[in-house]
Amino acid sequence: MGTAPQDDHFVTNRVSSVDQWSHGKIIMKYQGSCHCQAVRFEVEAPDIIEADRCNCSICSKSGFLHLIVPRKHFRLLQGEEHLSTYSFNSGVAQHKFCQRCGIKPFYIPRSNPDGIDVNVNCLDTPPVKINVTEFDGRNWEKHAHKLAHKSKAD
Ligand SMILES: [Zn+2]
Repeated sequence: MGTAPQDDHFVTNRVSSVDQWSHGKIIMKYQGSCHCQAVRFEVEAPDIIEADRCNCSICSKSGFLHLIVPRKHFRLLQGEEHLSTYSFNSGVAQHKFCQRCGIKPFYIPRSNPDGIDVNVNCLDTPPVKINVTEFDGRNWEKHAHKLAHKSKAD
């Protein structure tokens, strides 16, 4: 494991007690928001984020960078009344976007309806490091199983 920066932000946002989901990684509490700040959220995720970039019709157009977490590691802090939901095709994915600024800070993904998919681009403080894996969402049925474990807490 590399050395992590020990600035004040890092120390205050480090989460001390987490379940097995963390697999021994350092877990951080990140704050995020839409562009106009009407919608704010908090998510627990490793200091080094494993993100997925998807090439499907909606993700490529919206530039969404995926961080899928178990639902209990996500908290909507404010702005529920500003969120609209868009769905298409199978209707399983619930795409949430801010009615004021149009940004999609998080949503309920089709691959993990029991989890939350956060847009890494909407985190207010950038993670130490982001590892990006390409996900072939244009051939979703063939590849969705690779994401299924990400919303499981233990
Ligand atoms: Zn907004």
